[in-house]
Amino acid sequence: MAKAFDLTQWTRPEMLALAPYTSARDTFNAITGKYTFLDANENPNASAVNRYPDPNQLALKKKIGALRACSVNQLLIGNGSDEILDLLFRAFCTPNKDNVILMPPTYGMYAVLANINGVGIKEVPLTADFQLKTDEILAAVDSNTKAIFFCSPNNPSGNVFKTSDITALLNGFDGLVVIDEAYIDFTDRLGWLSQLDNYPNLVVTQTLSKAFGLAGLRLGIAIAHPSIIKLLHTIKPPYNINTLSQQQAIEVLSDIEKVNRQIAALLAERNRVAAYLNELDWVETVFPSDANFLLIRVDDANKRYDALLAQKVVVRNRSKQTNCENTLRISIGTPVENNELMAACNTISL
Ligand SMILES: *Cc1c(COP(=O)(O)O)cnc(C)c1O
Repeated sequence: MAKAFDLTQWTRPEMLALAPYTSARDTFNAITGKYTFLDANENPNASAVNRYPDPNQLALKKKIGALRACSVNQLLIGNGSDEILDLLFRAFCTPNKDNVILMPPTYGMYAVLANINGVGIKEVPLTADFQLKTDEILAAVDSNTKAIFFCSPNNPSGNVFKTSDITALLNGFDGLVVIDEAYIDFTDRLGWLSQLDNYPNLVVTQTLSKAFGLAGLRLGIAIAHPSIIKLLHTIKPPYNINTLSQQQAIEVLSDIEKVNRQIAALLAERNRVAAYLNELDWVETVFPSDANFLLIRVDDANKRYDALLAQKVVVRNRSKQTNCENTLRISIGTPVENNELMAACNTISL
């Protein structure tokens, strides 16, 4: 049986009262056929982009809905996941009053967006092997806790959290549980879309930035109960996704076979790079990865980072993050780029 979730109880009161801006394109979105559009003060001289984009991104949502087996009214598209996450903070968290729970090491934007929105942060670090401390997370919830944010597969550790732990959070917390699945296409493990019907407080976010190779377009996706999606739609900027981004994403989503081939090739490369790194004397651990990057623990992260940089290979030093002492995060590149990484590593000795 589906969990009960009273959206109005969790939404910021100002947001419930909001009268959204209605754009010219909103009004006439449903109309097809030959009309003379003199309603939006657009420049009439035809070009690829003289008209405002579809504020509801219907054609793109139909593509994403078909791919993810969800309906259009469960989908919100944002200018990157970052916009989606920001909308969630603004819709649900009252500044200087409410808080969210984060589990470091995690994606840095959750804390940045909380701070920008004046929302408190409670931190419950992951275990040393990067799993959720479910009991401590639930114990940290207070009457102003509106949401729990985490990514699985996790950034920067690369692992998927245990299903039983995530289920415990979904059952034990009545506010929003936001599962960021930016890396879900790089793992065989099941994501959480199939649980949306059971948990109306679940928001899954995904992105076209990683597996789909469209980071430059800025396209993030929220998939949730239609009532949550409707609320987020009323507060999003009307024309948040530009025409060219919508068109190019539709093109890429029309050839999923190509995307899948690229993913398979990348995973083979991930295995090749991991096997290589495992043999290096100065690499202590290559953490198992369900993503398109590897987190490694080395003897001295600053020293190894600098040595790689001197060889013109840029990786990410994650050592300042909780439980990440002496770690580097390495994105998997093309075979040629990975060879460059390995050649650079070959020049580094104990
Ligand atoms: C890369 C990444 C994203 C993607 O963000 P966009 O704004 O969609 O590019 C989201 N979440 C996590 C955890 C990431 O690592």
